[in-house]
Amino acid sequence: MYRTHTCGELRIGDKQKQVTLAGWVQTVRKFGSITFVDIRDRYGITQLLFNESLTAQLDTNPLGREFVITASGNVNERSNKNGNIPTGEIEILVDSFKVLNKSITPPFSIQDDTDGGDELRMKYRFLDLRRNAVKKNLELRYLVNRSARAYLHEQNFMDIETPFLIKSTPEGARDFVVPSRMNEGQFYALPQSPQTFKQLLMVSGYDRYYQIVKCFRDEDLRADRQPEFTQIDCEMSFVEQEDILDMFEGLIKRIFSDVKNISITEKVERMTWEDAMWNFGNDKPDIRFDMKITNIKSAFRRGGELHANGDLIAGTEFKVFNDAETVVSIAAPGCSEYTRKQTDELTDWIKRPQIGMNGLVYIKCNADGSFKSSVDKFFDEEKLRKIASGCNAKPGDLILILAGKEEKTRKAISELRLEIGKRLGFRKDDEFKLLWVMDFPLFEYAEEDNRWVARHHPFTSPKPDHIQVMIDNNPVIENAAAYLQHPYSEIKANAYDMVLNGNEIGGGSIRIFQRDLQEKMFAALGMDQEEAMHKFGFLLGAFEYGAPPHGGIAFGFDRLCAILGGSESIRDFIAFPKNNSGRDVMLDAPSTIDAKQMKELGLK
Ligand code: ASP
Repeated sequence: MYRTHTCGELRIGDKQKQVTLAGWVQTVRKFGSITFVDIRDRYGITQLLFNESLTAQLDTNPLGREFVITASGNVNERSNKNGNIPTGEIEILVDSFKVLNKSITPPFSIQDDTDGGDELRMKYRFLDLRRNAVKKNLELRYLVNRSARAYLHEQNFMDIETPFLIKSTPEGARDFVVPSRMNEGQFYALPQSPQTFKQLLMVSGYDRYYQIVKCFRDEDLRADRQPEFTQIDCEMSFVEQEDILDMFEGLIKRIFSDVKNISITEKVERMTWEDAMWNFGNDKPDIRFDMKITNIKSAFRRGGELHANGDLIAGTEFKVFNDAETVVSIAAPGCSEYTRKQTDELTDWIKRPQIGMNGLVYIKCNADGSFKSSVDKFFDEEKLRKIASGCNAKPGDLILILAGKEEKTRKAISELRLEIGKRLGFRKDDEFKLLWVMDFPLFEYAEEDNRWVARHHPFTSPKPDHIQVMIDNNPVIENAAAYLQHPYSEIKANAYDMVLNGNEIGGGSIRIFQRDLQEKMFAALGMDQEEAMHKFGFLLGAFEYGAPPHGGIAFGFDRLCAILGGSESIRDFIAFPKNNSGRDVMLDAPSTIDAKQMKELGLK
């Protein structure tokens, strides 16, 4: 028998028991004629005490770090207790032991504070996974998984697997493709999500489906994305938006309760997409803090109206503002005493290529009611006061203003808001704020192709009273400048995102379930009938056999785990992740394949 107990199990109550443990050697400490060895497994660490004669054996055959051993002996009360570990009151007086396998010296130390750099730890991920910090993350991931499954099972959802080798229908991200040996010259694609399958399952009558499933997207990996990632993917029949929101608020609340012991009783807050963009510059606002954006001048289309509010800066000669499409600001509370160095540093921050703005205007609202700004030349005290009051700034605040093209500027002010929020300590890891963002536009304008693309995906239904607008209008856009005036830019989707602390953790929609509306949607996206049939004929066909009304959602499982674990990196919560170039540095994949394989696949 290799072991009677785990290395995290024995306590003072087990004194005198004869036990056998198995695990990895963490440390070896020789004191005169005796030796202490810490042995580790998944459950913890226990101290072994090797007596004089066993120590003599170690002298000829030393134990090294990460050797796998089994040791038997008596549980003994320690004289020198260690309050930091649960087994710290006992040790094992070893009477026999055996080396089960040796280890060469590991490339980094297997400890909480390791000396291994990122790349090295990824290369030896199987060793990194022995570390507590990483193990805790995987344990949390498993807890979230169990909690989700328990809830969905109780709610009558069925876990049904869907294929990984499917048809390539790129819409959104790029597909990963797999050559077919048996069908030379043809390719499968890996699913970006099981979207169409779960919809077909609804047509088949499995009215509550879920799957914790891998999805594959061949995207450029911006920070903290993975080419393969996991979703909690769900779909329901005979539901309206409200049913879905209700069911999945329930799921998230259950996960919070099971995993974090946090009970959320109130309803999750809701915000329209327009309000999110207008007030936070972002469709996934972090509402742990307020600091809303003031739209000093903007060409943002909201509630059917083009906003072009020039009031706050009317009658001034400041060209930068007057020429800008959009001027937006935030008021950083209590920051009016920022030094020149600090405001310069913020200016550099927003000029970084990732943000790419040309400059930052600031107005200090001094505690005594006076103002000092970087544009004093153009704005007298009265005008500064008017802007400050328009921005709801209080004495002591620092108003930060950005001006430029609408989309870029709004994005930049949103980033600046988050950065200031972080610096001021408003974004606490242990505070969780959920939010539904809803009423998204159904379409987005793609300037490169001068056409509409589906903001969520092509299967999302318009709001019931917007369906007619879609049917009645020709999707063709005259020119790039005209898209904001096109009736399609007004159509709202029956779609919703769940946002947690400024991260989109889930998104879904009520689906189109009638063939003709789905065809109209494909046409609106610039697909002719032939293309629509080639790509999605199976779905259009299925819709003719009694498709029920349905809708669903998918949660980003990796991201959800990372946030619950208080981390910004999803990689930490994936057992074998890829790096930022999509490489598995442990396997050294992707890699070339040999000529024989290429030939078999009919590839050149
Ligand atoms: N399949 C969608 C996605 O991956 C989610 C959904 O609409 O259910 O984003």
